[in-house]
Amino acid sequence: MQGLMQDWPLLCHKILDYAAQQHGRREIVTRSVEGPIVRTNYAEIRLRSLKVAQRLARDGFREGDRIGTLAWNTARHLEAWYGIMGMGGVYHTLNPRLFPEQIVWIMNHAEDQALFVDLTFMPIVEKIAPAIRSLKKVIVLTDAAHMPASALTNIVAFEEWLAEADGDYAWRELDEKAACGMCYTSGTTGDPKGVVYSHRSNVLHAMIAVQKDAMGIGSTDAILPVVPMFHANAWGLAQSAPMIGAKLVMPGGRMDGAAIYELLDTEKVTMSAAVPTVWLMLLQYLEEQGKKLPHLQKVIIGGSACPRSMTQKFRDDYDVEVIHAWGMTEMSPLGTLGTMKPEVAGLSGDAQLDIKQKQGYAPFGVEMKITGDTNDEKPWDGRTFGRLKVRGPAIARAYYGGAGKDQFDPDGWFDTGDVAHVDANGYMQITDRAKDVIKSGGEWISTIDLENLAVGHPDVAEAAVIGIAHPKWDERPLLVIVKKPGREVTKEQILAFMDGKIAKWWMPDDVSFVEAIPHTATGKIQKTTLRDQFRDYRLPSP
Ligand code: ADP
Repeated sequence: MQGLMQDWPLLCHKILDYAAQQHGRREIVTRSVEGPIVRTNYAEIRLRSLKVAQRLARDGFREGDRIGTLAWNTARHLEAWYGIMGMGGVYHTLNPRLFPEQIVWIMNHAEDQALFVDLTFMPIVEKIAPAIRSLKKVIVLTDAAHMPASALTNIVAFEEWLAEADGDYAWRELDEKAACGMCYTSGTTGDPKGVVYSHRSNVLHAMIAVQKDAMGIGSTDAILPVVPMFHANAWGLAQSAPMIGAKLVMPGGRMDGAAIYELLDTEKVTMSAAVPTVWLMLLQYLEEQGKKLPHLQKVIIGGSACPRSMTQKFRDDYDVEVIHAWGMTEMSPLGTLGTMKPEVAGLSGDAQLDIKQKQGYAPFGVEMKITGDTNDEKPWDGRTFGRLKVRGPAIARAYYGGAGKDQFDPDGWFDTGDVAHVDANGYMQITDRAKDVIKSGGEWISTIDLENLAVGHPDVAEAAVIGIAHPKWDERPLLVIVKKPGREVTKEQILAFMDGKIAKWWMPDDVSFVEAIPHTATGKIQKTTLRDQFRDYRLPSP
């Protein structure tokens, strides 16, 4: 027997239709790339997105076409996304922090037909456009007055191009499983791999994200997504904010402490989301300037591990709740969020930080398990760690073009490449990347635990741990340290600081001091490069 309910496909443009109808006057505030703060609302964004769709269709772009965006978080970037999706196209976000050759590789791989680009990135585009074989048009997200001189032929100012459309356009009727977005993982090993979102996965992901125990957002919120739309689908905020009619505050190209503080304050932002480095800059600015955060209620922090000291500072000095989150591009990207279940809600002080330091638990729609070397499932005891595998309706089932097949188990689980343990309450803690974990005498040592401990030393600015080949134990940990400017500290002092806080056999065999630790385009420690740097290094004999 079949259910007798309507077939209402989960399409992304329905989110914008809803926002325009129910929350039409809610503001979207942008620090524009040209400089001034500009204001629009969901009703206007919908109309202009319809114009984008109409204009793209008139230019001959078709359903399924990949259309690149190389842009900051702005209202225009939102209009480009919704316009592309609404005419059946696939927005393809490009990370400007990649090397130009990587962007060329990615755009050629995806066969991007057109590109929306911010003024900031015109120098990159001038250089790479001729190398992108499928590229037919470049649309610069600005008006005619700000158009730069260009050697490219098929290039137009967004506002001029848009003015030729009236918005009398009906969104394409699509299968909810049709592709709507694309984002390549940064590819720290091997070539980047394309993740392809569907309308259905994006809509379901947004519904998951807005729940009280996930991001917990609603129409009375003002949300500042610092996390860029070009990285990991902006953590879904481009869909989840309009879905509940929240005000959006878009930071454009400025993400320094002063700029972010100004928006948090003047726009009365209640919730924000960013990687830890952004918050480091903000906290430093607040301290220097003696500023407070009277409006901000919570920040979602993820992308890499949120330091315990950061959660504590926000809580104790600014009365802001930190929600630690974990996820990845392949998961749309939310995987877990550290909101408090009744089992832990009553905790305070250090006991609360113990939970908040973990990456959180999975909402409905994300199944997880941890497995050992033979795919055997490990217990949720908060100690035993294994490879973290996930399943759900907003999780990739393949990469574009069939790359990376070995990450997808035949039984439908996606291997995240992360190593984690899960406690009896379901709270997960990342202990490593599978390729970074140190295997010593058949047991695993968590490099992240060692790094977290080392950065707790007052003279240490940054720490990284890598495995070094060892004749007896296979691998042993080497601790690489960048000292804080003007500070002096010795290997013996660091090891004495760590002593007693970890198992004896986890203690690094050596400490090496360096000027800098290499990072990826998304701000993570680049362990492959670091391992290359230490290729000829030999551990001291015991
Ligand atoms: P990229 O690899 O391009 O930066 P992702 O954002 O998809 O893109 O990276 C996902 C990875 O980032 C995860 O698999 C995990 O290793 C790491 N990560 C994300 N959030 C956290 C977190 N809160 N703590 C520790 N690691 C995290």
